[in-house]
Amino acid sequence: MIKPASDQRDIRDLSFEELEAHLSSIGEKAFRATQIFEWIYQKNAWSFDAMANLPKELRERLKAEFLLQPNTIAEKMISSEGTTKFLFDLHDHEKIESVLIPTATRTTACISTQAGCKFGCKFCASGIGGWSRNLTCAEIVTQVLHVKEESLKHERPLSNIVFMGTGEPLDNFDNLFKAIRIINAPNGIGIGARHITISTVGLVPRIKELAKQNLQIELAISLHGFDNESRNLLMPVNRKYPFDELVDACREHFKQTKRQITFEYILIKDVTCTDKAVESLKKAFKGIVCKMNLIPYNPVSEFGHKTPSREEMFRFRDQLEDAGIHATIRTPRGRDVAAACGQLRHAHKEK
Ligand code: SAH
Repeated sequence: MIKPASDQRDIRDLSFEELEAHLSSIGEKAFRATQIFEWIYQKNAWSFDAMANLPKELRERLKAEFLLQPNTIAEKMISSEGTTKFLFDLHDHEKIESVLIPTATRTTACISTQAGCKFGCKFCASGIGGWSRNLTCAEIVTQVLHVKEESLKHERPLSNIVFMGTGEPLDNFDNLFKAIRIINAPNGIGIGARHITISTVGLVPRIKELAKQNLQIELAISLHGFDNESRNLLMPVNRKYPFDELVDACREHFKQTKRQITFEYILIKDVTCTDKAVESLKKAFKGIVCKMNLIPYNPVSEFGHKTPSREEMFRFRDQLEDAGIHATIRTPRGRDVAAACGQLRHAHKEK
């Protein structure tokens, strides 16, 4: 990917309103912003030259001022069930991954929000290579554009976005929300807010801010521990935002938004998939309307964990259901190309 000249911005870093304001400042009509947005986000144009209904002078001017190019695809891997993982090489050679997940009912893009991750969960590959930087709004929406283009090869067009790639979305709040507004806008990518999910390690103050965004997006919480102690061992972030505070913030979020929260809970043999865990979750989740998404542990070579047997996982689910906690087991997808939950990496530097 071409490194920007110092005075060149990526046009995908501009919100619709910013683009309109910029165009009017150079004496252009406001409707040009709609045309440009449609070219970039609906017709997947990767260059200003493609924007046939813009006057040539405007195209030349935009070319001089802004960048608009595809990411460099360092690698594209397709799993046996059609899950496609992209490894992108950004202009500063940071590597990020995005995944297209086609299923019988929807086509989902799993998008990264940071290069690497600072949170160091003791089961996830994304934190192993450390954290480098936040992704820009342009870098976030460009991932979606690539996955959207790829989705055209499948039966269904792109329908859902999950911010479950590398990094912590709520730790890159401003760029994330700028990108979400472009993804959600009818003249942008046009994906409904209810089809967009943010997954978080549980940054309590940011969860409180979410309700103020007035967007009906889905929230998923990476819970993974069943009490304070077990969560401390698996997720260092729990020392800052402990289990009970997190669950309280979720109760509050539900009260304010009336939107049901999904809790993600990893099933690790003898660690999180135990009778003790069921008892503890029953107590903690009394009266909370939620979904519990049980994720079978996907192997990451650096950690010694084991995936429970099918019987153990189904028994765990049934015990939660009996206790009134709605629980489903997530089907692992893309394991054969290391594209499943927790297998996306930052450590590709030597490639
Ligand atoms: N930082 C955010 C976004 C990443 S989402 C968050 O943690 O929520 C990635 C999801 O995959 C999280 O729920 C994460 O906990 C889960 N995950 C991580 N490692 C995993 C592994 N080895 N097996 C299964 N799921 C894993």
